[in-house]
Amino acid sequence: MSETSIVSLLSHLPQGQSTVPVINPATGKKIYDLQQLSAEQVIDAVSKARDYQPILAKTGLPQRQRLLLNLHDILLGSDERLMDLVQLETGKSRAHAFEETVGAIAAASYYGKISVKTLARRRTRAGVPLLTKTYVDQVPVGVVGIVTPWNYPLALTLLDVLPALAAGNAVVQKVDNQTALTALFARHLAIEAGWPEEAWTIVTGDGETVGNALVDSVDYVAFTGSTATGLKVAQRASARLIGYSLELGGKNPMIVLEGAKPKRAAEIAVSGAFSSAGQLCVAIERVYVPRSMHQEFLTELTKQIDALEVGRSDDFSTDIGSLGGYVQLQRVSGYVSDAVANGAELVAGGHALPNTGPYFYAPTVLNNVPASAKLYRREVFGPVLAVEPYDDLDDAIDQANDSQYGLNAAIVGPVKLATRVASRLNTGSVNINEGFRASFASMESPMGGMKASGHGRRNGPGGLLRFTETRVIGVAGGLIRLPSRARDYEKMAPLMRLMVKSMKLFS
Ligand code: NAD
Repeated sequence: MSETSIVSLLSHLPQGQSTVPVINPATGKKIYDLQQLSAEQVIDAVSKARDYQPILAKTGLPQRQRLLLNLHDILLGSDERLMDLVQLETGKSRAHAFEETVGAIAAASYYGKISVKTLARRRTRAGVPLLTKTYVDQVPVGVVGIVTPWNYPLALTLLDVLPALAAGNAVVQKVDNQTALTALFARHLAIEAGWPEEAWTIVTGDGETVGNALVDSVDYVAFTGSTATGLKVAQRASARLIGYSLELGGKNPMIVLEGAKPKRAAEIAVSGAFSSAGQLCVAIERVYVPRSMHQEFLTELTKQIDALEVGRSDDFSTDIGSLGGYVQLQRVSGYVSDAVANGAELVAGGHALPNTGPYFYAPTVLNNVPASAKLYRREVFGPVLAVEPYDDLDDAIDQANDSQYGLNAAIVGPVKLATRVASRLNTGSVNINEGFRASFASMESPMGGMKASGHGRRNGPGGLLRFTETRVIGVAGGLIRLPSRARDYEKMAPLMRLMVKSMKLFS
């Protein structure tokens, strides 16, 4: 993207109190300076969005559906530019930017297809047939606050912003300082598709300052980020009795079953663990493998990792890109050296790649990580895979479940047995013979975590309904009037009993 286009996108942000430099992680070079808004500016943005929201709600569901389908085509027509921006701001490889972009665009067509069906007024079964009728409306909550992290700046924007808009809400989105351009460009395309400018506002700045002001002034918060921040958001939102959804961290296990082919299992582990350099909430971080194939699996893993191209490229010639920046590099190297110091065996990687770029890190495999190592339980959020042999499948399942997190899990092996094991895993998704893509790519399937991995779900009809309030309309005066005096009940009792009885027959 040219410098002029970047300047023009950034001009949509108000002048803040200060700026922060945004660095291209793949090169270490500054791309631009980003405005840092004050709490008052965020509150003002929410107030303007609130004034505008009734106008958006009045456009009606069918019109908003049309705008989403229109946006779908425009996004597809701009997919190369979207990938350029995702790469520029995150440092990920073209292949991973592609995976993110196509997945994100699917949100526009999915909500463009289902929102009328999901949100239109529906008739429900009345309390007592013939006496009353009932209808249910799903009405927009008002202003939805969306907080987005840096690792999937396009997908995590569209998967939350589009359903919120479809439901008739105005959106104020707080993007991560590292990835504002991607969201600003997506918004620019939404305006090109016919969405009013006032429907979607983007705010930038310090997480706590902007985040707190947002949570304190909107009507619903959809947060994606770490469990630590999610907890703060939940407490703040609860204090105002507003609704929220939280998409948080994970420590995602993979279980290899007896009968799996070690080479295939290693392929699935590699794509599951190292996508976006492991900076993916659903990435696999630990693998439990039968002792009988432990060595062969490690050999296969090493061979496949050796063949990976790690580097910077704007085409499909590299497999893995950079980490997101200095902080991520420090965190990942810190976890790996701590594990090795605690006795874990380093099988592959374990070092930065400064000749490739300032924040590149080699795909890493650790074997037999002791419980004393920090990464044994904590999320690394980087290209680091811990392998552990097991003798008994029940033990492996217990170990997979022994985590504060419950986001994603994977099982490799015969599908029948894998499906039985899947029903014993306490995670929001389980992928069989895949790391995460089989479930993650399904827009119709709810996505989210159990335990400390989240609250609520995105995607699916529920991903839309969370941005609505429910209003029930009860209408009296059917064929027969509701009783008002005690004697009326006496007269109507046989008929009412009959009706209640009939409800069991016809339910
Ligand atoms: P983070 O919690 O530090 O930041 C996420 C966002 O929250 C950023 O935009 C940040 O500026 C903002 N923020 C910071 N303080 C805030 C506050 N007090 N109130 C409101 N917003 C605030 O997370 P991160 O380290 O940038 O992202 C990585 C984490 O996100 C990992 O744990 C990863 O697993 C998780 N994640 C989860 C999903 C999912 O769908 N479950 C998806 C992507 C990332």
